[in-house]
Amino acid sequence: MTATDSLPRTAGVYDVERVRADFPILAEKVRGKRLAFLDSAASAQKPRAVIESIAHTYTREYANVHRGVHYLSERATVAYVAVRGKVQRLINAAREDEIIFTGGTTDGINLVAQAYGRTALKSGDEVLITEMEHHSNIVPWQMLRDEKGIVLRVAPIHDDGSLDMDAFQALLTEKTRLVAVTQVSNALGTVTPIRDICRLAHAVGAKVLVDGAQGIPHIATDVQDMGADFYVFSGHKLYGPTGTGVLYGRAELLDAMPPWRGGGDMIRSVTFEHTEYAPLPHKFEAGTPNIAGVIGMGAGIDWFTALDRDGLDAHEADILAYGTARLAEVPGLRLVGTAPEKVAVMSFVLDYAHPHDIGTILDQEGVAVRTGHHCAQPVMQHYDIAATVRPSIGAYSTREDIEQLVAGLGKVREMFG
Ligand code: PLP
Repeated sequence: MTATDSLPRTAGVYDVERVRADFPILAEKVRGKRLAFLDSAASAQKPRAVIESIAHTYTREYANVHRGVHYLSERATVAYVAVRGKVQRLINAAREDEIIFTGGTTDGINLVAQAYGRTALKSGDEVLITEMEHHSNIVPWQMLRDEKGIVLRVAPIHDDGSLDMDAFQALLTEKTRLVAVTQVSNALGTVTPIRDICRLAHAVGAKVLVDGAQGIPHIATDVQDMGADFYVFSGHKLYGPTGTGVLYGRAELLDAMPPWRGGGDMIRSVTFEHTEYAPLPHKFEAGTPNIAGVIGMGAGIDWFTALDRDGLDAHEADILAYGTARLAEVPGLRLVGTAPEKVAVMSFVLDYAHPHDIGTILDQEGVAVRTGHHCAQPVMQHYDIAATVRPSIGAYSTREDIEQLVAGLGKVREMFG
């Protein structure tokens, strides 16, 4: 019996209580209260299948992968390489070797900036991002700007948090060589019109990198249908372990890119005079990988894809709509990010209390939310605020979590209002 044998128990229907039963941590009391975990955008909790997969690897099937001829190395290698196919099916990549394992979204974007950006982009070429990017989709391009003289352009957002597509199109010219844009804003929940963005970018000959960190847990994702040239995400936001992630790239682009990191596993042959690199995907995977983590990410993908997709989408849409309506009733509360296309995130400010104080009081009530700038300081600058409170939902969130949040905000009002 492996850790994932029990998976189909949630398949076919969407029963949130059964989904919750898969997450041991949700039964924990925090500060003596029921846990209302509303911080999945920062990192999702882990289902038992993932926890058991990691324990199983280290207990029964652990050794270094690829090179070993012994039993344990073979077992670990079989489990490890199987995950590439799981990711390929999850995002509908055309080929399995288009899936590169990374340490996460940040790692994937830096890989593209360094391996693709440093060779395919030259001084004066433009990279177009948006005002709602996470810092990890801003800073790597600024580093490239400082090193290579590329020009960074930023498409603004409207005040509701949606992307200003007129401005985006005006900034998209034949000088634009790369568009790097998020599928979903982590600070606002905005869903960007990613298919249109890819189509428009390709029309001027630009390539597109899509940051799927917040997209993949909430939107059925097909990289070919979307038209992405590169797509990155983090395992830990998709119910898998930290330190895991994926870079998808079209094979033609990955083939033409030089490796980023050199070392073991990414070579075909080495002499002191010359190194011949391994084919895809190994060219981009130097060194011993996160073996148990990648296998655990595969268990998370198995768990996630066994959920009834329509049921999951309907459930999350219901919790978002319910939460948004309940928050709108709280006196003095202003939602930050009200784009028509939104998922999973309900950022807000209160006109009588600082986000960090709100977060601390909510914590006393068992409610876990993130407060701060959410690694998206330009979004805060747009709204002229320092921080927001950001409840965010996942597959296991319930209306009860929202009620606990609203009750906690009542306590905030008693103290500060
Ligand atoms: N991009 C977005 C939209 C995010 O929300 C995050 C994390 O919050 C990242 C990138 C960075 O992900 P990681 O820290 O897992 O590399």
